[in-house]
Amino acid sequence: MDTAIEMARDVREGKRSSEEIVQECLDRIEGGNEKLNALLGTFDDALERARGIDERRTAGEDVGPLGGVPVILKDNMLVKGERCTAGSRILENYDAPYDATVTKRLRAAGAVLIGRSNCDEFAMGSSTENSHYGPTRNPWDTDRVPGGSSGGSAVAVATGFAPLAFGSDTGGSIRQPASLCGVVGLKPTYGRVSRHGLVALASSLDQIGPFARTVEDAALALEVIQGDDPLDATTVAGADASIPELLERDVKGMRVGVPKEYFLEGMDEDVRRTVMDAIAVYEKAGANIVEISLPNAPYALASYYVVMPSEACSNLGRFDGIRFGYSSEGSTLLETYERSRGEGFGPEVRRRIMLGTFALSKGYADAFYRKALKARTLIKRDFDDAFKDVDVIATPTSPSVAWPIGEKFNDPLAMYLADIYTVSANMATIPGMSIPCGFVNELPVGLQLLGRTFDEYALFRAGAYYQSVTDWHTRTP
Ligand code: GLN
Repeated sequence: MDTAIEMARDVREGKRSSEEIVQECLDRIEGGNEKLNALLGTFDDALERARGIDERRTAGEDVGPLGGVPVILKDNMLVKGERCTAGSRILENYDAPYDATVTKRLRAAGAVLIGRSNCDEFAMGSSTENSHYGPTRNPWDTDRVPGGSSGGSAVAVATGFAPLAFGSDTGGSIRQPASLCGVVGLKPTYGRVSRHGLVALASSLDQIGPFARTVEDAALALEVIQGDDPLDATTVAGADASIPELLERDVKGMRVGVPKEYFLEGMDEDVRRTVMDAIAVYEKAGANIVEISLPNAPYALASYYVVMPSEACSNLGRFDGIRFGYSSEGSTLLETYERSRGEGFGPEVRRRIMLGTFALSKGYADAFYRKALKARTLIKRDFDDAFKDVDVIATPTSPSVAWPIGEKFNDPLAMYLADIYTVSANMATIPGMSIPCGFVNELPVGLQLLGRTFDEYALFRAGAYYQSVTDWHTRTP
């Protein structure tokens, strides 16, 4: 399976047509998706758009950095005229009235959007079991979860449905499924990528990012989608627009921090060893490995699970059964709200609406919501301090490999613990990337690299170096 960069080069040089490449991906989807349930739909105009790229190329036009390359979007990003369900029943009949900014930028770069991927309902979950449209399966062992919430996108890249897919990451939803499926997943710095046209979960945490096989592909994808957007006021103007000539394949002298709080008791011993082996690769290459401390790390998960539901319950207020989406009419307006939301939202979404409403309610907001915000500030400061001494931080992405479908489904706390190493990056607004770093019991393990805000380049440099001396990322299920 070629990378996105290779496909774009082949199209540009006329070696292969985009139509041929897209058709190959559609054939793989046709053959593999029934079992995996990674995609909720493909786009009818994919081949036509591919032919459009081929015609433009033949006419001598520059078709863009992703010219002719098939890509997949998580089903919470809008593509005009296409269904967008966010994995929820409440949006089962919702067709997007406009394109997300990411959608527009991908098209402008020549990408061919071919389908939409399954996810936990409203991106709430760590296993893609919370989708109204059934669970997605892990291609390395189809009785196991792929991680979540962007599980469908991770599986799509792992199985070659497309070389690039996009997800959203509010507390780990790109990095954790990337880890469990053996692909690269990047959560950019908060403010790097516009969320206009992304179904909002927790607006102070959400960020869109790519899944790919190689770090170079992820870097190219980020370059295409990043940047200031008047339609998302959190985007930052002047963020480094080009990812410089990738990538010095050298980490000599780079300072790699290893936080002692991230190798806790309770994590899988084999995963710990695998991640330590990955860190040893940097040491061997002449990087300086520095033990660091992030003393407030133990509060990250608890404060995340207050901030996130608080923002989510507010964002989900718009689904009222009146303006759009699933509607179940009652005899009064209140009953219509109750029924539409009660029937339209699944159990995890209802749980978080209740948690968030409680955490924000009068008399409790100080004890929960505001206290969590204070913890968030401390978590951010820990990273600011650490990055005075190191260039990147290396941790496990997930405390375990993929677990059997159903194992944590009825145990929300166990499910939330799967995010223990990923939520901090969202709380601190810093970028994080997971790269494949080995296997335990034939299931992929991910190494998480964290960087300073707007320093994705350090992650790319460290990640590309690692991939240049290892071959974990070349294995396929
Ligand atoms: N698994 C985490 C949660 O359930 C993260 C979700 C996400 O990043 N969208 O909240």
